Amino acid sequence: MRKKIIAGNWKMNKSFEDGLKLAAEVVHTADAEVPADVHLVMCTPAIHLAAVAKLTASSRSVATGAQNIYQKDSGAFTGEISADMVASIGVKYVILGHSERREYFAETNAQLADKVNLALKHGLTPIFCCGETLAQREAGIHFTFVKQQITESLFHLSPEQYATIVIAYEPIWAIGTGVTASSSQAQEIHLEIRKHLASKYGDVGQDTSILYGGSAKPSNAKELFACPDVDGGLIGGASLVARDFIDIAKSY
Ligand code: PGA
Repeated sequence: MRKKIIAGNWKMNKSFEDGLKLAAEVVHTADAEVPADVHLVMCTPAIHLAAVAKLTASSRSVATGAQNIYQKDSGAFTGEISADMVASIGVKYVILGHSERREYFAETNAQLADKVNLALKHGLTPIFCCGETLAQREAGIHFTFVKQQITESLFHLSPEQYATIVIAYEPIWAIGTGVTASSSQAQEIHLEIRKHLASKYGDVGQDTSILYGGSAKPSNAKELFACPDVDGGLIGGASLVARDFIDIAKSY
């Protein structure tokens, strides 16, 4: 059974105090209102992680995720944070390969493969992001491009290692722009991604949760989640407002 996941990506937003307030409100409301089969994740900036992980430890429906880890286990890498450190404070998920990290920090598919390995080694569930630019879509190479991102960063994994991976399809042209992929565009590429995963991992690939990301909000979530191959969302802007984030989760 595919897990239904609504993950919030706070990006570089919220002071420590405001972040804790948001997290507390999400946990409190989600536990009261969100159906038991929908799993929420709050992916916070690094400074919030330990406190938010403590808050979510006893939550029925919400877990904590990081937005990145470094591709080495430990050592002289000033300013970086390892998978081991993140896992040691009770964080369960990590976003890997977000398009902003690929674009502004030049993350490559090969580096991401190392990050995926370390996340899995330390028991973190990767939310692996893929997605094309508008130019790539207009050139008709979006399927090929996204499949290559997945192949180069994930297909070295054994089926056992691969089993917990979550994919987030995020068309770059829809991130933070207010433009959402239509439900038919989302369904079309999610199905293509699923076929690709199944060609390598069979039933395990069929069972992968594939989340949609890119200007998802309460007003369009229901239509997106109604697509048979959309298993949830990776939510940026709308995850910064507890009510919106919860309403998105409730539209499943
Ligand atoms: P958005 O961001 O919902 O603000 O478009 C999504 C994401 O980048 O994960």
